[in-house]
Amino acid sequence: MGAFLDAWGDLVLGACCPGCGHPALGMCRECAAGLRALQPGAVTRTLAGFPPTVAAGEYAGALRRVLLAAKERQALSQLPLLGRLLTRAVAGLLLGERPVGPVCLVPVPSVRARVIERGIDLTGTLAAGTARRLRRCGVEVSVRFAVRLERTPADQAGLGRTARIVNSSGAYRCVQPPPGSVVIVDDVVTTGATLAAMATALRTAGCLPVGAATVAHTARRGSR
Ligand SMILES: [Zn+2]
Repeated sequence: MGAFLDAWGDLVLGACCPGCGHPALGMCRECAAGLRALQPGAVTRTLAGFPPTVAAGEYAGALRRVLLAAKERQALSQLPLLGRLLTRAVAGLLLGERPVGPVCLVPVPSVRARVIERGIDLTGTLAAGTARRLRRCGVEVSVRFAVRLERTPADQAGLGRTARIVNSSGAYRCVQPPPGSVVIVDDVVTTGATLAAMATALRTAGCLPVGAATVAHTARRGSR
């Protein structure tokens, strides 16, 4: 019956699974099971200033497709799923680093023009959902958009490692040191240049971030 409904959905609505592209009403069972089975892990980058980082899974396969679709507002129904993955990454970081006191999630700021164009600040939205989930688990947590873009960096996609470092360096400024144990959150970590620049901006403002958590990480080479 499920297969019939999926085929019908594809025929009538053009519906397909955002994870694999096969006909389905929403995410197919295989993709959903694959994403649920992801285990968060530490991400290492040899970049100066790169903070301790945990990602929910590798930026590949279904996770990559769903993230790309969400950025283009084509898989908004999958935001809770992506939010749960980010929550797991944050929890993994907190368990490893064991900070004391309330936690403050600081999203990597999105380029304003892209937020307007897409109609969604993906990282901010996922951070808000993550905070809600952690609060339900008894964690005292807030979200602060404490870091702003000092200048608009070029789109990182297509840039190599060195170009990304130059592009991100000095791009962020902490406008108000956030309270508590600060965790930087982002959708994907690639070379680590963005997270290193974010951590540097926070340190410059006198705040030592606990680390960073992301939904996904690229393979070690750092190229998307
Ligand atoms: Zn699928």
